[in-house]
Amino acid sequence: RGVLFSEVRRACGVMVLVNPQSGRGQAMAQYNGHVQRMLTEADIPHTLVITERQNHARDLVRSTDLSQWDALIILSGDGLLFEVVNGLMERPDWEKAIQTPLGILPGGSGNALAASVHHYTRASPVWGEDLLTSCGFLLCKGLVSGLDLISVQLSSGARLFSFLSLAWGFVADVDIESETFRQIGALRFILGTLVRLASLRIYQGKLAYLPAGETDSVSSTGENLLNDHLMAPFGQPVPQNWTLVEEREFVLVLAMFQSHLSEDLMAAPGARADDGIIHLFYLTAGVSRATLLRLFRAMQSGTHLDCGCAHLVYVRAQAIRLEPLSADGVLTVDGERVHYGPVQAQVHRAAARIIC
Ligand code: ADP
Ligand code: MG
Repeated sequence: RGVLFSEVRRACGVMVLVNPQSGRGQAMAQYNGHVQRMLTEADIPHTLVITERQNHARDLVRSTDLSQWDALIILSGDGLLFEVVNGLMERPDWEKAIQTPLGILPGGSGNALAASVHHYTRASPVWGEDLLTSCGFLLCKGLVSGLDLISVQLSSGARLFSFLSLAWGFVADVDIESETFRQIGALRFILGTLVRLASLRIYQGKLAYLPAGETDSVSSTGENLLNDHLMAPFGQPVPQNWTLVEEREFVLVLAMFQSHLSEDLMAAPGARADDGIIHLFYLTAGVSRATLLRLFRAMQSGTHLDCGCAHLVYVRAQAIRLEPLSADGVLTVDGERVHYGPVQAQVHRAAARIIC
């Protein structure tokens, strides 16, 4: 299914991007204590780049000579990879640039992609240093596979590329509110969930999606140039073959593109890096606090769909549109806050490449 990274290696080595501020600020110690040694032992030439500010990585990959690098490795949370992916897509030569193999090492507080990549090996779950070792080992083995990219259109006119998730309601609020607790690492999401549960609210909006398998979800590499051909412009109704969700009151809407929402939350156990599917979950109003807590606990082992909760709906989609009706709120893409308002997204199967 993949190609060996060593076979595509141009003998120039990899760039390791480290965010020293991510998570509990431990990424540099992880680099010095583990990563550098693993890469050296595997004979992979590497160059360390320490980010100095937000968007440093984005600006760097937008202008760097990519022919120098066999892969871009991110030692941080998902936020730094989000910068790298979007920086690559902002280049004039993005079609070639986005083919650069990417690698992820868990160095932040939100390490959802790293946890997903580990999950895809079918090994039992690990956390912390063991997850770092597992992901480091995968990098050294260097098997490259496709990574779905989701094109996200915002009402501001911006277009972003996402590899992880789009969230509104409960999950988005927790994600942003819990940034204050970044110092406690992955625990921040658990604490944030408890805080949010205490002030549980309902979010009004309209949701629509194009079910998976309706039309051919063409592999986006090559001919179709990442055109968002499945979506109608904002202001126009969604196309005829879309499904309109009748409910208008939600506790959360969560579109997952990988298996994990965080190191501890396996929202979409069946997801794969290049399955070309948006795993859409929504929870409608009326769910009790106790049930919500039970669902989040079950999500730790990925069994929330077995809880028999009638408010929780799961569908496989290839495009979605969400129109929040309340004046302000929080929308997140890959855990990063984005412009609030109507949003729509469609998957481009295996548009990027990941070492996994
Ligand atoms: P975490 O999982 O802890 O949130 P992320 O990798 O998501 O870690 O990074 C959090 C944010 O920090 C991202 O928005 C990223 O753009 C930003 N960032 C990157 N480098 C730096 C830096 N040197 N100083 C401050 N912020 C940075
Ligand atoms: Mg983050």
